Amino acid sequence: MNVQPAYRIGHGYDLHRLEVLAAQGTGGAGRPLVLGGVRLEHTHGPVAHSDGDAVYHAVTDAILGALGLPDIGQLFPDTDPRHESQDSREFIVEAARRARAAGYMVSNLDVTVILERPKLSPVKDRVRGNVASALGVGAERVNIKGKTHEKVDAVGEGRAVEVHAVVLLARD
Ligand code: MG
Repeated sequence: MNVQPAYRIGHGYDLHRLEVLAAQGTGGAGRPLVLGGVRLEHTHGPVAHSDGDAVYHAVTDAILGALGLPDIGQLFPDTDPRHESQDSREFIVEAARRARAAGYMVSNLDVTVILERPKLSPVKDRVRGNVASALGVGAERVNIKGKTHEKVDAVGEGRAVEVHAVVLLARD
């Protein structure tokens, strides 16, 4: 008898502080701003051990959470020098591999990116395509939404980027 449930739902959340790009040499510690594998032109970027891709991090945690597995920080510790500047696509690919190994496929994924600037809309389709391809599913199973934080609090003041992700896994 298969004791695995037919569906498993997971929520993932990530936030990265945004600072002036380190490359500008003005004392900021920001890395280039990358979301869902897409580079956005901006004066500020995430402070992070890996590449700081908050979309990939939130989606990875949503999948790991749905599977009841340890979270991204436990699986890929930021104290591990191997993950320094890491392309976070590897995290989401590994989460998808673990889902398949457990007998699940991504039924659908809904992602909300909260970012004051720059606008997400010009790159939304590319983010969607990248996330879908990393998960090995069609783009119709992935939704990406962009919001601002109405100029209030850290996100609204452009000092952070925040991402929420909800995933539904279905038994394959
Ligand atoms: Mg992160």
